[in-house]
Amino acid sequence: MTEAAVEKTVENHAFEADVARLLHMMVHSVYSDRNVFLRELISNAADACEKLRYEAITDPSLSAGDGENRITLTLDEEGKRLTIEDNGIGMSRAEMIEALGTIARSGTRAFMERIEAARTEKGEQDAQLIGQFGVGFYSCFMVAEKVDVVSRRAGSDEAWRWSSDGKGSYAIDAVDVSEAPARGTRITLHLLEDAGTYTSRWTVEKIIKDQSGHVPVPILLAEKPG
Ligand code: ADP
Ligand code: MG
Repeated sequence: MTEAAVEKTVENHAFEADVARLLHMMVHSVYSDRNVFLRELISNAADACEKLRYEAITDPSLSAGDGENRITLTLDEEGKRLTIEDNGIGMSRAEMIEALGTIARSGTRAFMERIEAARTEKGEQDAQLIGQFGVGFYSCFMVAEKVDVVSRRAGSDEAWRWSSDGKGSYAIDAVDVSEAPARGTRITLHLLEDAGTYTSRWTVEKIIKDQSGHVPVPILLAEKPG
């Protein structure tokens, strides 16, 4: 097989057992404040912009051509999709597998430990705990039946797609750079039937105002023409 043919292959990876558990809990808990997913995705996008700024201190070429960081939300009411795009540092293939397939982050690990402790002490308390912790990326599966993450790391000439329905596994495949952001990450949420409100400008603006007022990167809202 040629190298190009290998790159086009879609690879399926199983989630780490703890991720599968966390996802199951996200989807099945009776947690009412699903809005927090947006705070998590915006905070990740802002972190990615901050990481780019930091790395560009030693390698200015990383942010060359587009020095202004921004986060763009695109509302697609007809397609029932919400897209969150940033022009931050982006992720390589290996970084995607590490960041979006395992529980490598200390915050999420602590969350899982608390969940276990609370279960033994006083039974199920998932709902309150989700609210107390920064639950991170996986919270988007509270509102999405499928999530696509297309990312191009700053300075790289490759782009990759991570795709999952949150049910045990995810797929990784190479995408043409013309289909990816010039730099950074685009996350497309294919919204659940009952999560259509997240394509409403009014709803999304209000959530951003309530939850993400302190974010140091401009947040733009766009509508996909129907
Ligand atoms: P945390 O933000 O606490 O690390 P998350 O679950 O929110 O945990 O995100 C997991 C990881 O996924 C991040 O640490 C980062 O490495 C990666 N990631 C998520 N979103 C993005 C993004 N928009 N750009 C770059 N990396 C991202
Ligand atoms: Mg985060």
